[in-house]
Amino acid sequence: MPHGTDARTPAGPPDPYPAFMTAPLPPFPMHVSVQEARTLLAALLPERRTETLPLAQAAGRTLAGDLRALVSHPSATESALDGIAAREADTLGAAPPTPVRLRVIGESRAGAAFTGTVGAGECVRIYTGAPLPPGADAICPVEQLLDDGPDGVLLRRPASPGDVRHEGGDFRTGEVVMTAGLLLTAPRLALAAALGHPQVPVLAPLRVALLSTGDEVVPPGQPLTAGQVYDSNSVGLRAMLIEAGCEVIPLGHAPDSPEALQAAIDRAGGADALLTSGGVSMGRYDFMRDLLIEQGRVSFWKVRMRPGGPAILGGWNGLPVFGLPGNPVSSLVVFHVIVRPALTGQPPQTLRLRAATPFRALPDKTAFWRATLQNGTVSDYGQQGSGILRSLSDAGALVIVPEGQPVAAGDDVDVILL
Ligand code: AMP
Ligand code: MG
Repeated sequence: MPHGTDARTPAGPPDPYPAFMTAPLPPFPMHVSVQEARTLLAALLPERRTETLPLAQAAGRTLAGDLRALVSHPSATESALDGIAAREADTLGAAPPTPVRLRVIGESRAGAAFTGTVGAGECVRIYTGAPLPPGADAICPVEQLLDDGPDGVLLRRPASPGDVRHEGGDFRTGEVVMTAGLLLTAPRLALAAALGHPQVPVLAPLRVALLSTGDEVVPPGQPLTAGQVYDSNSVGLRAMLIEAGCEVIPLGHAPDSPEALQAAIDRAGGADALLTSGGVSMGRYDFMRDLLIEQGRVSFWKVRMRPGGPAILGGWNGLPVFGLPGNPVSSLVVFHVIVRPALTGQPPQTLRLRAATPFRALPDKTAFWRATLQNGTVSDYGQQGSGILRSLSDAGALVIVPEGQPVAAGDDVDVILL
């Protein structure tokens, strides 16, 4: 959304405008909802290019076009089991004390069909995937057969039509079986192969530049001095970007200075988007926020969520720049609920689970509380501070508590699995 077309300035409580920010705030949306943030971010991303990949290289990609079946599956009506094919009516009443005798007149196996017709009192030996011969309509599995002379079998159970796989019962030639937008998981890649496609059209990965900011932030591997912290955001966000199918352009780390940040943003030139962490909140040294507000085109600042509220989205010479808060829990939760859905077009998958403990609501924000999973229920993790990175690692789930709607123990809640 361009400047000046503010949808909601400011909803909720008035923003505590920091006295040290000298420039007046231009009118851009503030305190947007999580859903609005996702939509505004998705709108800034460039249109996705597509490419064609062999199935062996397409795992985890998003299908970019519909796939039709090039064949029917099964290609002919066939047996689902090893056994005999016969007429069901001939075998009714077969049981261990009263087996039914059938005459074996031939064999049908995968790749070599029986060419005759099965008549009354007759059967053919048949194997999984072999064509059902004309005349037969049911299968009796080999486990229920006893040999009875050179050309006879005894059935201890009736032959069942349920063990016949009908032609096209899975899919038929020409049918659209997979639609554009599907994430190519292992079963879907296998299905694409079964449809007859050696290669598939997929979305090309978005190229996302990644920058950590903060004077106190240091890469792990160096000794820390007082007040410094290891850069966990670069590692966590990079892994999440890769998992979301993106190509990552690591820009490392920039200190809290407008000049250094500007230089780093300029280095992201060839990327489709830039993701930063830190420097977007209310502090005097939160220069990422100032830069975007003064020189960028801000789509929104602050999201009605906790953790992660201060996120800011702007455009910088056509490059979408999404500034995540520095707190490690905040940046990873914002990625989960806003960035990944915008990048992939897939909303976070939620489950409906029973709450074993209460979860408090916030009056004007959606809360994503860390929770532990046990026997299909969720319990409050306890420590919900956005600097407690261990909580995300331990918790396993985020419970979504809508604005102003507290959860009591025993209620059902929406849960995102981590
Ligand atoms: P900020 O959003 O810049 O105000 O930072 C909020 C908190 O997150 C501070 O305690 C920072 O030290 C911490 N922080 C910022 N960036 C990172 C990072 N890349 N890795 C770990 N912690 C960070
Ligand atoms: Mg900072």
